[in-house]
Amino acid sequence: MSHDVDWRRQGAPIDHIIARKDRFDSEIIQNARVKNPYYNIPDYMYLEEKYNIRSTFFFRTIYENGDYRDYEEDIKALHKGGWEIGLHCDPSSIHDPAKIQDEKKKIEEFTNSSINANRSHYLAFSTKLPIILNSLGFLYDSSYRKSKDKISKEDMGYEMLNGIIEFPVTLMDAYLFTFMHIPEDRIVNLFHNTLDNARKQNSEFNVVTVIWHDNVLKMKGGRIYENILEFLSSQEDVVINRGIDLANIIIKEKL
Ligand SMILES: [Zn+2]
Repeated sequence: MSHDVDWRRQGAPIDHIIARKDRFDSEIIQNARVKNPYYNIPDYMYLEEKYNIRSTFFFRTIYENGDYRDYEEDIKALHKGGWEIGLHCDPSSIHDPAKIQDEKKKIEEFTNSSINANRSHYLAFSTKLPIILNSLGFLYDSSYRKSKDKISKEDMGYEMLNGIIEFPVTLMDAYLFTFMHIPEDRIVNLFHNTLDNARKQNSEFNVVTVIWHDNVLKMKGGRIYENILEFLSSQEDVVINRGIDLANIIIKEKL
């Protein structure tokens, strides 16, 4: 379970939110100047705490009209509370080891421990990326996705790529709402079906990787995150993990 933090901490500009007002309940829009609906880290922490779940938050170091240092206290609180912090590296960095190294260091300054995980913004991926990440001490990446409008077999499980564990993105909020046109009241059902398909893969680790962006929690569709957690928690054979927990299990058993 993971969250990409795409927007600066102040949230999106009010004009941007007003232009998308159909995605929200009217009281969220009315209150948007007081509580920007694109910033939800404390809400995610509250919900996941409630279900005794820990996830991974991927932070950028480059924010449009913002500064990653605005997230210092959030990153520290998440890290202290047992959430995993990963790098949401910039698409312009993925071919350049020095740039990724620089981004990694910036986030590590807040956690005082090493960052093991990468997911590129916009899921930018190249076959060279795992090689670069491996050379910089990352353990896993989760930037790969084969198709946007359906969930193919390649979007589940994991793969070893040049020393890096690649967890392809199985379920992502934005793809469900746009490319797949899944109505809000069918989203939990889609999770249900996806787990069933994963169970049929019959591999040792039937991995389903989920992105629920920080900015969608108050949106129609995104706001059913708690229902998803409730459903997943009810499944006896499902373990909800941070990427690093699973990566460590795979490394221990495979290598
Ligand atoms: Zn992103």
